[in-house]
Amino acid sequence: MIWNLGSINADHVYAVPHIPAPGETLAATALTYGLGGKGANMSVAAARAGARIAHLGAVGADGGWMVERLESYGVDCAHVQRREGPSGHAIIAVDARAENAITLFPGANREIDLDAVKQALDKADPGDLLITQNETNGQVEAAAQARARGLRVVYAAAPFEAGAVRAVLPHLDLLVLNEVEAQQLSQALGTPIEELPVPQVVVTLGAAGCDWIETATGARHHVDAPRVEAVDTTGAGDTFTGYLLAGLSEGLEMQAALKLATQAGALKVGRHGAADAIPSREEVAQAAF
Ligand code: ADP
Repeated sequence: MIWNLGSINADHVYAVPHIPAPGETLAATALTYGLGGKGANMSVAAARAGARIAHLGAVGADGGWMVERLESYGVDCAHVQRREGPSGHAIIAVDARAENAITLFPGANREIDLDAVKQALDKADPGDLLITQNETNGQVEAAAQARARGLRVVYAAAPFEAGAVRAVLPHLDLLVLNEVEAQQLSQALGTPIEELPVPQVVVTLGAAGCDWIETATGARHHVDAPRVEAVDTTGAGDTFTGYLLAGLSEGLEMQAALKLATQAGALKVGRHGAADAIPSREEVAQAAF
């Protein structure tokens, strides 16, 4: 079972000729609404991969449709909290080369009641997985409580903030971050990634796949990503992480779980959208990379 203390956002996605420069006003050529947020994306990815996943998060009064959407993908939302203010939402510009720029309003995602999270985690079994990212409050508290209950704790260091990673590091079994975040963390802590005080680190490398580092030995293993034509990289890392967790939760070895995750991530970048564009396990299997 996977538990996800994660954000739930309404994504407003604007197609633009290029990412607007400071001071520039630019007309978008299309607008779509969808379910997003790193947390929700990871929950959908894990559920699409076939895992049992419970989402621990919050939406505002305007967020009922997002809970319904999560449930439609098979995510357990019994512990999703309701807040009076607005739900988290994101304004996403995607250019013709599939690059994106995102403005985020956290809303209910930063108003999660931690007592309720603690009560939910009381129902977890040792060996279950907890995933958190940096779009909610309560990351450190949840990680510490999960660890105390014998869960394996995974953290996706996005959006990157050195202080947030530093605070949660002592409670982690696995840290997942992209290449830019890895450089930022290494610089902020003055420590090479291979020497972080976390047993396992996975660095995603976009089209180049990912590296998996076992810090006890410093061993670095590489997994290639399949070659695809990228049209929208939104949610690639979240798809990767959700599938990685699903693989681990069903007992796959790290190498096999990473292979599954890179394939799912590659399929995602070939499609427009966030949560709603995350491929199913069947689609990943059929892609025959
Ligand atoms: P993030 O979205 O967090 O920046 P990455 O860009 O590293 O993360 O992408 C996460 C994963 O998605 C990669 O490890 C890879 O498996 C897949 N992926 C991303 N971009 C591509 C691409 N252009 N071609 C194939 N796979 C990709």
